[in-house]
Amino acid sequence: ARTLTIGLIPADGIGREVIPAARRVLEALPGAVMPARLRFVDLDAGFEHFQKHGVALPEETLAALKSDCDGALFGAVSSPSHKVAGYSSPIVGLRKQMDLYANVRPVVSGAAATASGERRAIDMLIIRENTECLYVKQEEQHDGPGGKYAVAKRVISERASRRAGEMAFAMALQRDAMRRQLPEAERAWKGRPKVTVVHKSNVLSVTDGLWRETVRGVHAGNAAYASGVDVEEQLVDSMVYRMFREPEAFDVVVAPNMYGDIISDGAAALVGSLGLVPSANVGDSFVVGEPVHGSAPDIAGRNIANPIAAIRSAAMLLERLGGDAAALAIYRAVDKVLADGRALTPDLGGAATTTDVTDAVCAQL
Ligand code: NAD
Ligand code: MN
Repeated sequence: ARTLTIGLIPADGIGREVIPAARRVLEALPGAVMPARLRFVDLDAGFEHFQKHGVALPEETLAALKSDCDGALFGAVSSPSHKVAGYSSPIVGLRKQMDLYANVRPVVSGAAATASGERRAIDMLIIRENTECLYVKQEEQHDGPGGKYAVAKRVISERASRRAGEMAFAMALQRDAMRRQLPEAERAWKGRPKVTVVHKSNVLSVTDGLWRETVRGVHAGNAAYASGVDVEEQLVDSMVYRMFREPEAFDVVVAPNMYGDIISDGAAALVGSLGLVPSANVGDSFVVGEPVHGSAPDIAGRNIANPIAAIRSAAMLLERLGGDAAALAIYRAVDKVLADGRALTPDLGGAATTTDVTDAVCAQL
């Protein structure tokens, strides 16, 4: 039988708790839904690894991913808020090295209550450009007449904007096709497929102007997109406002790197917890599943981190590797556990441990 090799990179903090949890779920999948046999390779990276060995993303890890793996799961990294000589974030490096140009972040309201306690049907897919914007990390500090000043470079390219746009419109059509297979009552989004293009080109007319024009160009230049997908624009600040006022108004959202980072954490609050929201870093030839949350040092090491974001990220990874049935089995098992409400971690108001939730998901498979 075919084998899929998955690199596991727990990295720091709760990454070391939620990645093993996701692995257990993958191992519990019944053979009937599996696209292939799974094989796992444990790989190092992270800030702690940097502190011990002087490198955050070891060459061996990159080499193993490139030569041996079909995809990977990444936990989270404890990047310090101050500059540390020689350190740079391994996940940012990984995205660049493996050319994972889009970060796909579904934000779905399931059985969990929203932040406001309301139950609103949220079914949003945020596509975050993953390689440039301010995350090129070209910063400088200078001494000026009035004291120090710092300058950061923000890069927006036609190529990266086009790839993010392509991903957004293609996913809008794909989601529409999938929704049509559901009974009307079960569809959160009932309208035509829609892509919301986020920018701030009223102020940043050159950089965000290029982003906006390029993404609109992808839409206009493809007959299937132009006729099948509606497109709207939203300035990033009013995007945040509108997302909190009427989160059900969004289908696919596409944003430059930093805006996408920020609005997806915000969107996570709408569905109850960062601990629920998965992502996939997608390129043309590789995919890395990764929960949207960070290493959560405030709760690390206590077996109370919510593993669902990591578990759903593992499902997204399988989906990208041709394992639709396996992914669906995981999504359904997670939804049942959330609806049941007995195995919820403290971030969702429960008292269950990471292990309890993982056990409950495995039991539903
Ligand atoms: P965070 O996402 O780690 O935590 C924010 C809050 O959400 C915390 O209160 C945390 O306890 C809670 N939380 C996050 N994930 C949870 C889970 N699975 N279950 C329950 N609660 C959860 O963000 P932060 O505190 O701003 O950052 C902490 C560290 O993580 C920093 O060093 C930062 O650089 C890093 N970080 C890494 C990534 C990444 O690896 N991609 C992303 C964001 C932040
Ligand atoms: Mn983030």
